[in-house]
Order: sequence, then structure tokens, then C-alpha cells
Amino acid sequence: MWKHKNIVPILIVFGIVSTLLALFAVSSWWWVFLVLFVWLGSTTWGAFDIRQGYFTDVFYKKKHENRRRVSLTFDDGPTPVTLDILALLKQHQAKATFFCIGKQINKHPDIFRKIIEEGHTIGNHTMNHSKGFGFLNAQQIEQEIDSCDASINDIVPHKPRFFRPPFGVTNPSVAKAVKETKHHVIGWSNRSLDTIIDDENKIFDRVSTRLVPGDIILLHDTSNKTLRVATRLLEYMKQQDFQSVTIDELLNLPAYEH
Ligand SMILES: [Zn+2]
Repeated sequence: MWKHKNIVPILIVFGIVSTLLALFAVSSWWWVFLVLFVWLGSTTWGAFDIRQGYFTDVFYKKKHENRRRVSLTFDDGPTPVTLDILALLKQHQAKATFFCIGKQINKHPDIFRKIIEEGHTIGNHTMNHSKGFGFLNAQQIEQEIDSCDASINDIVPHKPRFFRPPFGVTNPSVAKAVKETKHHVIGWSNRSLDTIIDDENKIFDRVSTRLVPGDIILLHDTSNKTLRVATRLLEYMKQQDFQSVTIDELLNLPAYEH
């Protein structure tokens, strides 16, 4: 399997052998470059495409889903927009999962409480959502996860099991941290790019045309643009007989440790 823990030992052996052969002029240095290229390519690809589960196990969709169920997920809240998203979900009797940032929970505890009261699931999305998340060491990541869990625990008696890394970045430090904190890493299979694309039609088309049963859809409860996209998306899902359920229901995994 193309996983970090399997690939690295193989690349080290190939690296040593190709370097020795090149040093004794038996083969070309190009083999050494090739090994380096494969190492760099796999590391970068694995770090930025969460679906690969290259460094750690990642749940990014429900495979072989035979019902028309999907999971809407909202990251980076709670914010005042979350209230409108909650009203929209209620109107459609849809359930979602919110990956909350600790410092946002501290800012909007009442909105956070409402997410839970309305039957949605929450997951950990770190304390600060640092822009340099990909460069933090395992201990710093653990601290980010633990502080977010503590903010959640201040309000509800739940310790979440689900963790979504900021920007979907995984690397050896993230793998080490989640092993320690015992969280499941949750990715996505349908990325809206709602924080990158300006055109609402494009975001809606992108998500709706690729929508398949078992999908985990990534959105952000941080803008009115996403609220409008979600409004159209839920209408479309109704027409197509898709139902949004929480991640724990979709994956049949407990969302909290009690
Ligand atoms: Zn985020």
C-alpha cells in the first residue's frame, strides 16, 4: 500500500543503494535524483490531498453507501452565519457536522450550544486554526487539539472523537498528535472551495454535479455566500432524494467519548 510508513523504508534502501552505486561509478546519479523525486512527490501529495490517508488513517467518505445519504460539513465556525445555516438545516430536516475552532467557540458559546441542541454533530478543528499549521510539531498540534477540546468541554460534557486538520493538511506530526489524542481524522470527498471561488454558481455546480451517495461535503459557515450556496444545494438534494446526515451516522462511528 502507498502509505508513508511503507514507502519511507523502501526509499531509504533505494537511496543508499543508488548513492553507493553512483559513488563507485557503477550507475548514474540520476537514480539518486529519481529516489529523491519520488520521496518529495509522495510527501507533498500525501500532505495536501487528505483523501490519500498517506500519513494516517483518514475517513473521507462512506464507501459502498447504498442509500442516498451524504454528510454536509461546515468548518471554521461558530460565527453569526452559523445561526442562518442552522435555520436552513432545520427547514430541510437535514443534519450536519460542524468542525469548530476553539477560539470561535469562546467568542460565540451560545451559537455553539445551539448547534448541539439542534441535533448536529461537532468536531475539533484546533484552537487557533494557525496559518502555519503544516509547520507545527507534534507537541504543538496536540496542544492545539487539547485546547479546542477544553473549549468544547467548558460548554458541553462531550469530548469529540472527530478531528479535521486545518487546510486538510496531514504529515508525520499530525499523525503522531492524533494517535496521542485518540481522534479520528475526518477529511472530505467533495470540496466546495467556497473560501476560494467567488462565483456562487460555480461553487454550486462543482458540488452538485459531483454529488454521489456517501460523500462528505466541505463547506464553511463563515460567509453569506456559502449560506446561499447551501440553500440551493439543499433544494437540489431534495429534488435528487439525497439526505444529509451527521458524520457519526454516515460512518457508523461514535462522535464523542463519554
Ligand atoms: Zn478550516
